Amino acid sequence: MDEVYVVGGGLAGVEAANFLAKKGIKVKLFEMRPKVQTGAHHSTLLAELVCSNSLKSNELTNACGLLKEELRILGSICMESASLSMVPSGSALSVERDKFSSYIDEKIRKNPLIEVVNEEFIDFDDHLTIVASGPLTSPKLLDKLANITGVKNRHFFDASAPLVEKSSLNLDILYRKDRYDKGDGSYLNAPMDKLTYDNFVVELINAKKALVHDFDTSYFEACKPIEEIARSGHDALRFGPLKPKGLWRSKEDRSYAIVQLRKEDNYERLYNLVGFQTNLTYGEQKRVFSMIPGLENAKFVRYGLMHKNAYLNAPSVLNEDLSLKNKNNIFIAGQLSGVEGYVESMAMGLLAAANVYYRLQSKKMNFPPRNSMLGALFNYLHLGSKEHFQPMNANFQILHGYEKNKKDKCVQQALEAIKIYGEELDL
Ligand SMILES: Cc1cc2nc3c(=O)[nH]c(=O)nc-3n(C[C@H](O)[C@H](O)[C@H](O)COP(=O)(O)OP(=O)(O)OC[C@H]3O[C@@H](n4cnc5c(N)ncnc54)[C@H](O)[C@@H]3O)c2cc1C
Repeated sequence: MDEVYVVGGGLAGVEAANFLAKKGIKVKLFEMRPKVQTGAHHSTLLAELVCSNSLKSNELTNACGLLKEELRILGSICMESASLSMVPSGSALSVERDKFSSYIDEKIRKNPLIEVVNEEFIDFDDHLTIVASGPLTSPKLLDKLANITGVKNRHFFDASAPLVEKSSLNLDILYRKDRYDKGDGSYLNAPMDKLTYDNFVVELINAKKALVHDFDTSYFEACKPIEEIARSGHDALRFGPLKPKGLWRSKEDRSYAIVQLRKEDNYERLYNLVGFQTNLTYGEQKRVFSMIPGLENAKFVRYGLMHKNAYLNAPSVLNEDLSLKNKNNIFIAGQLSGVEGYVESMAMGLLAAANVYYRLQSKKMNFPPRNSMLGALFNYLHLGSKEHFQPMNANFQILHGYEKNKKDKCVQQALEAIKIYGEELDL
């Protein structure tokens, strides 16, 4: 059987390569790092998590939780690795990032059917090729795709949050608690009184920004930098990432706002400032974030960063099976296809590979069930607005037949439908 090219060894790329190899198909996986860097990846490992170590909620009544369960049913390598590298984080699924990527890296590189080529991929030929080069696709490849599709590529901006060393935190001030006590106390909380909050907001709004100009900036709403949220209203943070409800130390001790820090690794050496994606200069991050009670002497091991995220206008350029209308041996996967988020990108890697598999078998493509979260995302790529297309996260509003007051039933139906889809793929 033909060899398939997969471009990009990120979350979508490893899912695609692993799926095809399981089907006995040879894969050449192109990953440009470390020769060419993206500006956000830090390691040489495949399947690197570029920012948070959280894969979001693990609860089935959460849209991303449901999507994860669907991926488990379909044999996702990322879900397999996540279950082996979990760190406690309440109802969320968070992982020790190096362990997560190392497991996948080793499994992919050891697979006799997968050859990893550390080169930047630029030129397409007639091979079936899955492009999973992500939101930070190299400019040369992006240009090539724009030439082929004849449609200008789109982008939005998002940002990553800083990491601090636990040993530098003041644990007399920070306290352990999960929201509404749902979880095992794996979050640290920094309580703010009104005066501290007021001063913090003022300094945050006035702090010096790095990179891009306002007029050139369109944010993905869910990844808005914290300083932009603060700018939208003095109380915006208190009702957003610094929401204290469910985190108060006691009934009597009700702080005005609370910053949460999430454990990054099982050794508990590093903590992530939850919701603190930012575009401030490094110096300003140190100055302003050190105003948070308990973080006065915080040692920042990584600062937040802002990035331009590329994606294709899926409804304009993609066929039903995720191949390009103008060159149908090229399939688009991952975030580049028009979804947003780690788990969504994994899902679109697996799905693109399933479609390639059908093509290789000369079989009619089997659509993912419309009432599953996988199918909902897939449909959105085809049914979204061509004029105003924006990347999509998993959410129940796009699920076919969703009824809010029958959520449990919808979830069960989604899982049953995915089991049947998986059986048809013979997984
Ligand atoms: C800075 C930043 C922070 C983010 N934070 C989060 C977060 O906290 N939570 C969340 O859910 N989502 C986050 N995202 C969004 C998204 O979920 C991730 O980017 C996710 O990794 C996308 O998966 P992917 O497989 O599509 O791309 P990636 O995981 O980025 O993988 C693409 C791979 O392709 C390689 N590549 C690029 N061009 C070429 C080429 N020409 N030839 C060969 N290889 C190439 C890259 O080196 C990379 O390894 C973030 C995105 C960015 C940019």
